[in-house]
Amino acid sequence: MTNDLAGTVERSSFFVGGRWRPPAGTERVDMFEAATGSPFGVAALAGTADVDAAVSDALHGPWGRATGAERAATMRRLGVALTARAKGTAALVSRENGMPRSLSIGANGFAPPMMLDYYAGLAEQLDVDDLRSGTLARVRVRRGPVGVVAAVTPWNYPQALAAMKIAPALAAGCTVVLKPAPETALDAYVWAEAALEAGLPDGVLNIVPGGREAGAHLVAHPGVDKVAFTGSTAAGRAIGEVCGRLLRPVTLELGGKSAALLAEDADLDAFLAALPEVSLANNGQTCHACTRILAPRHRYREIVDAITDTVRSLPVGDPLDRDTRIGPLVSGAQRDRVLGLVAAGRAAGARATTGGGVPEGRERGWFVEPTVFADLDNDAAIAREEIFGPVLCVLPYDGEDDAVRIANDSEYGLGGTVWTTDPGRGQALADRIRSGTVGVNHYALDVLGPFGGIKASGLGRELGPEGLSPYVALKSVYLTPESR
Ligand code: NAD
Repeated sequence: MTNDLAGTVERSSFFVGGRWRPPAGTERVDMFEAATGSPFGVAALAGTADVDAAVSDALHGPWGRATGAERAATMRRLGVALTARAKGTAALVSRENGMPRSLSIGANGFAPPMMLDYYAGLAEQLDVDDLRSGTLARVRVRRGPVGVVAAVTPWNYPQALAAMKIAPALAAGCTVVLKPAPETALDAYVWAEAALEAGLPDGVLNIVPGGREAGAHLVAHPGVDKVAFTGSTAAGRAIGEVCGRLLRPVTLELGGKSAALLAEDADLDAFLAALPEVSLANNGQTCHACTRILAPRHRYREIVDAITDTVRSLPVGDPLDRDTRIGPLVSGAQRDRVLGLVAAGRAAGARATTGGGVPEGRERGWFVEPTVFADLDNDAAIAREEIFGPVLCVLPYDGEDDAVRIANDSEYGLGGTVWTTDPGRGQALADRIRSGTVGVNHYALDVLGPFGGIKASGLGRELGPEGLSPYVALKSVYLTPESR
């Protein structure tokens, strides 16, 4: 195994039971630099036998019997070990999926230790049982681990999305089998290195990157007690069906098509300054991106022109360059899919005011020009489907009720923002948006706020104290009323 972040990276073993375990089969995935399309690594992919081994080793950890305080101490050591690797991790993910390094350092480098630290604090509080004096019994409420967690993650924010599952799971005393997406198989092993350095007991965290079949096998495995999934709505529906049949608890963080609602009194400059983060973060490969921008009709031309100028000015380039705001997409297949949706948008009559193709000089790698569509309405396919690329739609509205109606007229309900100089109006509008999360004059996904969607954007929440509950098994012990 080599692991030189400037050169090739090879991962030919899985991390199972605290050891490097050779694959049972021969399936491998070649990794290509998103910026150039050049090969830079290779990773083994798990088959069903590898998944079986990971679940079986995950079953026998002493972790659930440790105190919350002991788990918290180990989690903090794990966070320190991840922090020491943050820069390398960020760069590796940028090479895999095209995320600009300026974003990757936070999302992939520092967010996971922050989440570990937050949930370590909650783990310490789990040691004390609740004692409730009822009429018929004194009830001792014990909070133990749910058991073995299957964590299935996508490629777009691989480290943060893994941490959103691993951190609360470890806090509750669960053990985890992480199945990262093949596109980001390499960076997942940073967790393994950090786990070994931090002294995480063997089998508490197991890592088996693999494709859909491995994921499906893991989700349905009889040794799994809870499933935590982030990914597409299509896969989420399939996983939800399986978990429903098995009566297996599941959280699903799925797709989105969120709206940025610019009220009549919005500060347009403030919105334009935030647009790269709010609407185009990670080159549009962000589930909560506000890819529909709603503008009052009487300011529509002015707003379309301003958004067009801003988007056109964003530096497109190598995600490892400090100045890059828009990098490449994760793969050639994703680039072709996005270009196909753009072509369909044009064919349906929408006007691309900027972008719409491959940037000049960027034919190698998986680049798509940041693109703005105008002169369309919310019924257009490109305004309804999640594109997962740097493509925005600017839609006109007539009055505030119409704006709210359009914002809510979506299969999804994950993110959203409202822009206004009136704080009261901002909160009132935010309350009317049917979505799991909304930002007022910015969008800041904070560890304290429960994150997740409604409608086709998913089930359940991650982050915040609420993000711990799915990993905690409650048990009521009925004592006699006079017992102490
Ligand atoms: P995907 O659903 O194809 O794959 C996600 C993960 O699930 C991968 O690890 C994949 O191997 C696995 N998988 C796929 N089908 C499976 C099945 N039937 N059973 C078990 N595992 C299965 O999604 P993707 O293309 O990798 O990621 C992009 C999608 O993820 C977008 O739709 C995006 O909106 C969504 N996403 C949502 C959030 C959120 O928090 N709501 C965050 C990031 C990404």
